[in-house]
Amino acid sequence: MSQDVLNPARVQEIHQEAARRRTFAVISHPDAGKSTLTEALALHAKVIGTAGASSGKANRKETVSDWMQMEKDRGISISSAALQFSYRDSVINLLDTPGHADFSEDTYRVLAAVDCAVMLVDAAKGLETQTMKLFEVCKQRNLPIITVINKWDRPGLDALALMDEITERTGLQPMPLTWAVGISGDFRGVWDLRNDRFARFQRNNAGASIALTEYFTPEEASDSQGVDWSNAVDEAGLVIESNLEFDVDAFHAGTATPILFSSAALNFGVKELLDVLVDFAPHAAPRPDVEGSPRPVESAFSGFVFKVQAGMNKAHRDHVAFIRVCSGVFERGMVVTQTRTGKSFATKYAQQVFGREREVIDEAYPGDVVGLVNASTLRVGDSLFLEGAVEYPAIPLFAPEHFQVARSKDPSKFKQFRRGIEQLEHEGVIQVLRSDLRGDQSPVLAAVGPMQFEVVEDRMEHDFNAPLRLERLPYSMARISTPEAMPALANVVGAEVLLRSDGEYLALFNDIWALRRIEKNHPGLTLVPIGTHN
Ligand code: GDP
Repeated sequence: MSQDVLNPARVQEIHQEAARRRTFAVISHPDAGKSTLTEALALHAKVIGTAGASSGKANRKETVSDWMQMEKDRGISISSAALQFSYRDSVINLLDTPGHADFSEDTYRVLAAVDCAVMLVDAAKGLETQTMKLFEVCKQRNLPIITVINKWDRPGLDALALMDEITERTGLQPMPLTWAVGISGDFRGVWDLRNDRFARFQRNNAGASIALTEYFTPEEASDSQGVDWSNAVDEAGLVIESNLEFDVDAFHAGTATPILFSSAALNFGVKELLDVLVDFAPHAAPRPDVEGSPRPVESAFSGFVFKVQAGMNKAHRDHVAFIRVCSGVFERGMVVTQTRTGKSFATKYAQQVFGREREVIDEAYPGDVVGLVNASTLRVGDSLFLEGAVEYPAIPLFAPEHFQVARSKDPSKFKQFRRGIEQLEHEGVIQVLRSDLRGDQSPVLAAVGPMQFEVVEDRMEHDFNAPLRLERLPYSMARISTPEAMPALANVVGAEVLLRSDGEYLALFNDIWALRRIEKNHPGLTLVPIGTHN
């Protein structure tokens, strides 16, 4: 049936479904507890029976969000996908993000596909580098942020000091919804400000089962917790006084952040987070297209690719493109159009993918994520639609800081080599820079973090049967330039200009001194910093 024929019942259904969706990602510094929280959320929603043993990565078996061998070897999470579950009347889509800074470009793409972010802070460490970087990205995207202070069961910083740090470093006003009773390391529970009650903290079998929280009245809490209770009330009072009431508009506008305290490893505070998502987080709403005009959620199906992942399942060697649905209803089997090429694409193999878990998906609504299998023609940033052409804004590329020349180890495998590099570029695994001078036998690979090169090496050898040799280049920074810069800097030491496939000319420099010298010697050249920093 044509989705352009707006049947009022269908319109209402799409509106209702979009209004139920909460699509978010967790941003944090490695080790703050993102995987643990993800498992706890999933457990809470009863999607998985028992959470993986969360006592540390080394002895953790398989958590729901790890899948590649490299991830397992290194104990990091490289790939991203979505976990969907229902909670109360809502449908929660949790998009997984890699924890390691080398893959921040992946995280950036995921942040383009969510409506809200949860900033997970280790109570002992406060705002760490990676958290701040990702926060900046959220700020650029105007994403509302919920802050969760995690690991309160372990000795850490003072709650008020953490609030000061948040205000000073992010500019966000903290709006506590729960407040820790007991100092960090002596977690007694939280004051649930919304319901004015005390939720008692209980150690619960290392995250293996849901903690059933017991609640008490303020009087009971005062009797049982004494000074810890009155301190909590005083402290939260100080923060609230300076920020007035909980203001959902300020949260959505990205000027204030709800605050929660948790112990993800012990499953405490997780239900509160889900409740805050359902009660306050923005739902899937009309998404602006490249011209800035929002496409109503009830329009015919449309979405964009925010992630392409191959080799997730070694047995199948498949290739999955993850789409965020922006409007209409996705129905498996529908034939959609790819805006960039005008070509049609059959969506016969649509799945919901999270870690090793896969399920066929038959229908999806705005806010949902669909994994399209065997989608090798789809690239990151591609828009798709059923009817009524639409192009969503491109996902900007990061400023690369690491550069290596790639050559095929075996010259007779040049065809495989070229195909592999192209494919990895389309998946967004690496940026590829070229110049006539270097020729297409030896493109320059540009990365935000050096571990991206390891992924390229591994994938080229195992997925494309084209092992490569990499040779490091001395450059460490890039500027956007113009075609004229190419000949102008051709013989200049410490600099080079190459063309990236998005059409940008990137001028590379050894270091800031090389850049300054060239700016001085070639005052006519355009050298613009790249907007999205890493
Ligand atoms: P990620 O790198 O952010 O995904 O962090 P993980 O979820 O892997 O957690 C890092 C370590 O912190 C693991 O050893 C977890 O068991 C531990 N951890 C996570 N949350 C908590 C918590 O609330 N309390 C305590 N004590 N440990 C935690």
